[in-house]
This record gives sequence, C-alpha cells and structure tokens, in this order.
Amino acid sequence: MIRYAKPTTVDEALALLGEASWRIFAGGTDFYPAQGARPFRDSVLDINGLAALRGIAETGAHWVIGARTTWTDLVRHPLPAAFDALKQAAREVGSVQIQNVASIAGNLCNASPAADGVPALLVLDAEVELRSAATVRHLPVPEFILGNRRTELRPGEMVTAIRVPKNAATGTSAFVKLGARRYLVISIAMVAARLVIENGIVSDAAVAVGSCSAVAKRLSGVEAALRGLPVDHALAAAIQSAPIDELSPIGDVRGSAEYRIDAAREIVVRAVLGAVALDDKAAA
Ligand SMILES: Cc1cc2nc3c(=O)[nH]c(=O)nc-3n(C[C@H](O)[C@H](O)[C@H](O)COP(=O)(O)OP(=O)(O)OC[C@H]3O[C@@H](n4cnc5c(N)ncnc54)[C@H](O)[C@@H]3O)c2cc1C
Repeated sequence: MIRYAKPTTVDEALALLGEASWRIFAGGTDFYPAQGARPFRDSVLDINGLAALRGIAETGAHWVIGARTTWTDLVRHPLPAAFDALKQAAREVGSVQIQNVASIAGNLCNASPAADGVPALLVLDAEVELRSAATVRHLPVPEFILGNRRTELRPGEMVTAIRVPKNAATGTSAFVKLGARRYLVISIAMVAARLVIENGIVSDAAVAVGSCSAVAKRLSGVEAALRGLPVDHALAAAIQSAPIDELSPIGDVRGSAEYRIDAAREIVVRAVLGAVALDDKAAA
C-alpha cells in the first residue's frame, strides 16, 4: 500500500525515510510534470510541513539556504552582491506563481541540464547538505549532480540545505538566460558569472554555463583568461578567444549544438560584462 506523510520535524522526516522508500514532494513543480497522468505507485513524503527547512541563515563560515526555501524567498532576502546571479536566475524560473512555491533544492534534485539555478550555485561554490537518520554529508554541487536526472542522493537521505561558503560569496555577479522567447521558457543556454575586482583588476572569476552539457559546467579556460585583466571591454575579447572545451551541447528542438556553442560564448560575454556593470553593447 502506498502512503502519504507530511512530517513536521526533520527528525520525523528522516525516520520515515529510513523505514521505507519515498518520493519527496517539495513545491511539486517538477514532481507533477514527471508524474503525468499515471497513477501513483510510490509513497509520497511531503516536506512542506518542515518549517525548519525554509529560509536563509548566516553562520560564521556559510550562508545556509534551507531545502524548502522558494525562489521568491531568495529574491526577498538581503544577500551580498555575489548572490545577484542566483537572484536573477530565480526570477527566470517559470513564472511568479512557480517561483512562489518551487524550491531551490528541488531544482538541484531534479537534475535537469536546463535547471536555471545550477550555474549560479556553481559560481558560488555551493555545497549540498544531505542528511539521513544516521549521517550528514556535504557535497559540492558538481559531486551531487552526476548527470541528466541523476544525483548522488542515497536511499534514506534528503537534501536539508544548500550552503555557500562565505569566502565564495564575494565580488559581483550576473545571470543571463537565452530562451526562444523572453518569459516562461526552458533555457537554450544560460550563464552565471561572478567576478572579484581589486584595484581595477580581475582577481578572481567564476563562470558557469547550463543547458550545453548534461550537467552545467564551470569554464576553467574562460576563468583563467579573465584573471589579471583590467576591467574594461578587453574582457570580451579575452572570452572570445578562450577555450570552452567543457561544453558538449546536443541539438534539439530548442537549438542545434553549433548554435548553442555560439550563443553560449556570446552570453558568457554579456554575463561577465554585466557582473562588472559594463555595457555589453559597447563591446560589440
Ligand atoms: C510551468 C513551469 C515552468 C518552469 N520553468 C522553469 C525554468 O524556467 N527554469 C527552471 O530551472 N525550472 C523550471 N521549472 C521547473 C521547476 O519549477 C524547478 O526546477 C523548481 O525549482 C523545482 O522545485 P520544487 O520545489 O517544485 O521541486 P519538486 O517538484 O517538489 O521536486 C523535484 C524533484 O526533487 C526531489 N526533491 C525535492 N526536494 C528534495 C529534497 N529536499 N531532498 C531530496 N529530494 C528532493 C523530488 O523528489 C523530485 O524528484 C518549471 C516548472 C514548471 C511547472
């Protein structure tokens, strides 16, 4: 017999997860489309009663985003400028109605190549907190998302938080999404960029691209090309000639592989210039 449970404490949720196999239900905005019209065959663990998992807190070393925090919660919470890319991504997830219920953790756990939150979490060096009744693990996002719809979540575990190390929450950031229309659209490609500037020079750069590989990727060649450059439109030229070997896009109804590569490089330029408040049109 399948069951439905809506625990009110994390311990109760973890105890249930330890007893049997459950499908976790958060905002339901990926859960229901995946279910379609088929009858339910799995027990459902509804985590919407876990008030402790909703909201953003600050510890000495981390910003901690609870697993049930919605995109709207994130946008409304005061955070350093390094989070601007994540906030801009939040405003691109579906519609306001979706953002009001959908969680950041659900976006990660669904592990879609087109998940808009992932590039912005990658440039923040975010870690996923996984808890079971007996264990707590913290995995960097690249070790948590293993492939298209595949994660490192083990039986008995749930994601309880996403942590951003404070030493990565520095600098300024921007997010750029390309879709077939401006609003309520699945990404053809999207980019998050975070730059740290010291005395007019790029001292650190983090750039990540989604929808151009099974899992969103940091672009190490672009990041290396940007470090040490003065903040001017030469940044655009450096990106144009930097390697982006990490990307391996497929062609689909939304765009060919070749188009995605060209578009990704262009929106990397726009995101990087946006992160340092340079007008991308002046670079053209
Ligand atoms: C109309 C529409 C438009 C959308 N547009 C976009 C878009 O533009 N960009 C984008 O990125 N996404 C989009 N989405 C997808 C979706 O809204 C997001 O991925 C959202 O963040 C998912 O969060 P959720 O809380 O609804 O997850 P749910 O649907 O509740 O869960 C998603 C998956 O994660 C698992 N899960 C959830 N929470 C946990 C947890 N704490 N621990 C372990 N497993 C967990 C669930 O079991 C399920 O497998 C759209 C969806 C819809 C319906």
